[in-house]
Amino acid sequence: MSDDFNQLRILVVDDERDIRDASERILTRMGFHVRKAKRGDEAIDLLPDDNISIMLLDLKMPGMDGMEVLKHVREQDPKILIIIITGYATVDTAIEAMKRGAYDFIPKPFEPDHLRAVVNRARERLTLTREAKRLEEQRKRTLADLDTEKSRIRTIIESLPDGVVVTNAEGQVVLMNPAFQWHLGLETDIGLGRPIEAYVPDESLCRLVREISSGKHVDYDDLCSIEFSPFSDRYLLAKGQPIIGEKMECLGAVVNIVDITALKTLDRLKSEFVAKVSHELRSPLSTIHEQLAFVLNEMVEEGPKQDLHMLSRAKEKTSGLISLIGDLLDLSRIEAGAVCEEPKPTQVEKLLENIVDFLSPRAKTRSQSLTLQVPNGSLPAVTADPLALESIFGNLITNAINYTQEGGEIKVVVDHTGINLRIRVEDNGFGINEKYQEKIFERFFRVKDEQTRYITGTGLGLPIVKGLVDSLNGLISVESTSGKGSVFTVLLPTAGAADG
Ligand code: ADP
Repeated sequence: MSDDFNQLRILVVDDERDIRDASERILTRMGFHVRKAKRGDEAIDLLPDDNISIMLLDLKMPGMDGMEVLKHVREQDPKILIIIITGYATVDTAIEAMKRGAYDFIPKPFEPDHLRAVVNRARERLTLTREAKRLEEQRKRTLADLDTEKSRIRTIIESLPDGVVVTNAEGQVVLMNPAFQWHLGLETDIGLGRPIEAYVPDESLCRLVREISSGKHVDYDDLCSIEFSPFSDRYLLAKGQPIIGEKMECLGAVVNIVDITALKTLDRLKSEFVAKVSHELRSPLSTIHEQLAFVLNEMVEEGPKQDLHMLSRAKEKTSGLISLIGDLLDLSRIEAGAVCEEPKPTQVEKLLENIVDFLSPRAKTRSQSLTLQVPNGSLPAVTADPLALESIFGNLITNAINYTQEGGEIKVVVDHTGINLRIRVEDNGFGINEKYQEKIFERFFRVKDEQTRYITGTGLGLPIVKGLVDSLNGLISVESTSGKGSVFTVLLPTAGAADG
């Protein structure tokens, strides 16, 4: 900074030579570059080339007086700080000069210290002005940067293929991109600021957005998603997240919308294909199975041992394949919505009693206990196709038996909670690692570890169970700890609740 000020130029304008020379001496020692002028017009001529920062200006001079010089300088270069040199008698004039834009004044005769103090003040003022200017420029630059950043982000959001909509805490739309408008078939000039319901026709998505916006889902990991269909043949998946402020308050919601129509169509085609192939395979396979059974019967007595063994294995395999095909066909029917064709009020506890009776011998062969706990008194009925219920609980209890060690314990517990019947299938078996607990409901997923490796299965049981529970407007969940056991909980709306 001092370097900067060594460069500062000061012009002393006075008709008295002594004052000019004395000032020059003092100011040079202060580090200024000093220029001198003995008349007003001479000073004005110097200005354009000399880059003057401070001017010491005598008011009383022959020819052009100080006041006139002041006027000129103010017009020519208002940045120059002018310090008026004046006699005591003309202090009023000095004040007048300050009103017209002079920075300060110093009465004649002056002491060197006085001059130094006045000039130092002017120098500080220059420093402050420069600093303020620098900060102002920096602020402008930052604002310009922010502006560029903002428009860059806006461009990115606008060009995203996925729809994006942002709401405030009141659930009003504050931002949306063209993809969102396109996905929902909105007019391009619909504008912002209206409640989410004005833009989205799906009630459950609007409810979700309102819930997130008002701060009900503050957990960032808890990404809520909803599938909906704004028009026939168009399927969208919406994922919503809260926008959390600095004080951890919820500022609104941001919802991302993806078109999943192609995936849905592919999924449907895949299911139709699987259904068709399974159907075509089933009859020839059943025929082979029966023929094998027939040949085996004939051979039991006198046939060679090796052929007998081979054919038995072939028969086992065909029976495995037939059960796989059965599962695939069930799954296709569930996915096509063709289940629960004959719903009727069913007492689930009675149905469970039959299933437990039926599966008890299997549990016994593994020395497992299999028990059913039902509360005293009557339970409300569930309106459902009994075959669907049998499939749900038959699968869950069979799994509990299969994935529990010999001597283990399996409990089926029924109770009534609010509008639902709750059925828990509990075991103290192998358990399921947390990372697989969602995957086990996907088609063909099987956990393969040391304990389960040799257990045969198709990986289709739980997807069937989930499909059936969904079709009954129920819920299924699992809690499990590796090595400790699993609990599958099914909630089914009771007949009264469904009617209501
Ligand atoms: P499958 O039993 O034919 O393999 P499922 O869809 O019924 O197919 O089950 C998928 C996987 O979930 C099983 O392979 C098993 O690893 C796991 N699983 C299901 N039920 C249990 C249970 N009660 N205890 C431990 N693991 C289970």
